[in-house]
Amino acid sequence: MPTTSFWLAEPHKPLPSVKLTASPDVAVVGGGITGCSCALTLAEAGLSVRLYDAREIAGGASGRNGGFALRGGAAPYPVLAEAIGRARTAELWRWTERAVEDLADVAGDSFRRTGSLRLAADEEEQVELAQEYEALRADGFAVEWAGELAPPLRGRYPGAIFHPSDGVVQPARLVRRLARRAAEAGVEIRERSRVGSAAETGAESVVVATDGYPSGLLGALEGLIVPTRGQVIATEPVAQKLFETPHYGRHGFDYWHQTLDGRIVAGGFRDVSLQDEFTADEVTTPVVQQALEEFVEALVGRRLRVDYRWAGIFGLVLDFLPVVGPVPDDDGLWVAGGYSGHGNVLGFACGRLVAEAILGRPDPLLDLFEPSRLVLA
Ligand SMILES: Cc1cc2nc3c(=O)[nH]c(=O)nc-3n(C[C@H](O)[C@H](O)[C@H](O)COP(=O)(O)OP(=O)(O)OC[C@H]3O[C@@H](n4cnc5c(N)ncnc54)[C@H](O)[C@@H]3O)c2cc1C
Repeated sequence: MPTTSFWLAEPHKPLPSVKLTASPDVAVVGGGITGCSCALTLAEAGLSVRLYDAREIAGGASGRNGGFALRGGAAPYPVLAEAIGRARTAELWRWTERAVEDLADVAGDSFRRTGSLRLAADEEEQVELAQEYEALRADGFAVEWAGELAPPLRGRYPGAIFHPSDGVVQPARLVRRLARRAAEAGVEIRERSRVGSAAETGAESVVVATDGYPSGLLGALEGLIVPTRGQVIATEPVAQKLFETPHYGRHGFDYWHQTLDGRIVAGGFRDVSLQDEFTADEVTTPVVQQALEEFVEALVGRRLRVDYRWAGIFGLVLDFLPVVGPVPDDDGLWVAGGYSGHGNVLGFACGRLVAEAILGRPDPLLDLFEPSRLVLA
C-alpha cells in the first residue's frame, strides 16, 4: 500500500497554473528537489520549461526523506579523499557547504540551521570518525568532536562529530516552495503526467531528475542508479525536547531528529533486511518498521505511538558520487541523480549544475559526476 509521509501531509496551496503554448526548450522529468531546482534555474535564465511528475510535486523521495540537510556526500571525507584525492574532496565539500547556504536563502521556514551529530555506534566507528574529524580540521573545515554526549545518549555512543553548518528541512515544504517559485518564473508544471519517451515532450533538451525512481528513459544508464528503499516513522509529539539536532549513526543506517512540534522522526534500519530493500516498491515492511519502533523506544525510554509510517526510494551509486551530465549516446538527454541517500542538498545543487551545463556554463565538478562512468565501470 502506498504511504504518505508526515511532510507531505502538511496542507499546501495549489501552484499557480502556467500553460505553455509551444513546445518547451527544456522538459524536466521529476518534480522533486532536483527537478524543481533545475527548472527554476533554467526559467530564470530565460528558457521555456515544462516540468513533469508522474505523481505530485515532492511525491517521490523529496517529500519522503529524513529531512537532514548535510554538507558532503554519502562517502565519509577520508574515503572520498582516498578515491578522488584530497583537493577535489575539499572542493566538493566546500561546494556543498555553499549549497546549504543557498538552500537556506530560498527555503525560508522550511530550513533550520541546527548542525548535525554523526555518531559512532562502537569503537570501530569511533576510530573512523576520529580520522574524519582530523582530516576535516586539517583541511580547514569547521567541525567539533563531541566526546561526551548529553542524555539520553550518554554512554550509548562513544563519540560523535558535530557538523555546525548542517541543518534540517521540512523537505516537502521546501520543494513545494521551489516549485512555486519555478511556476512564478514561467515553468509549466504537469503533475500526474508520466513521461513515456523523451520525444513525446517535444523539447530540445530533456532532463531526467528521477533519482531512485525508474523512469524508463535512461537507456544504458537505466538501473545503474540502483533503486533503494528507505523507511521512516514519525511518532506522536513528545513534550520534552530530547534532540536539538539531527543524529545519525552506524554509517547512516540509523538516523533521527525531533521536529519542532516534538515528534521523533526516525529512519533507516535497511540492514535488517538489506537485500529486500534494493527495490523500487514503495511500501513499508513489518521487519524494518518494528526495528524503527524498538529503536525509538530504547532511545526515549518508553513506547511512543507512531502517527506516520512511510517508505521512499533513493538512488544508490557504487562510488557514492552523484550522476550529472549528458546521457551517453542520447543527444539532448541529461540526467541528474544518484545521491546515495544524501539528496536534499546534493539534489538542490545538482539540479542547478545540470541547468548551468544546458545553458552552456559547465562546472568543473561535472568531471566527477560524469554519467558515462557508470556504463564503463
Ligand atoms: C526514506 C528516505 C530517507 C532519506 N533521507 C534523506 C535525508 O535525510 N537527507 C538527504 O539529504 N537525503 C535523504 N534521502 C535522499 C533524498 O530524499 C533523495 O536523494 C532526493 O529527494 C532525490 O530528489 P530528486 O528530486 O532527485 O528525486 P525524487 O524526489 O525522488 O523525485 C523523482 C520523481 O520522479 C518522478 N518520475 C519518475 N519517473 C518518471 C517519469 N517517467 N515521468 C514523470 N515522472 C517520473 C517520480 O514520480 C518522483 O516524484 C532519503 C531518501 C529516502 C527514500
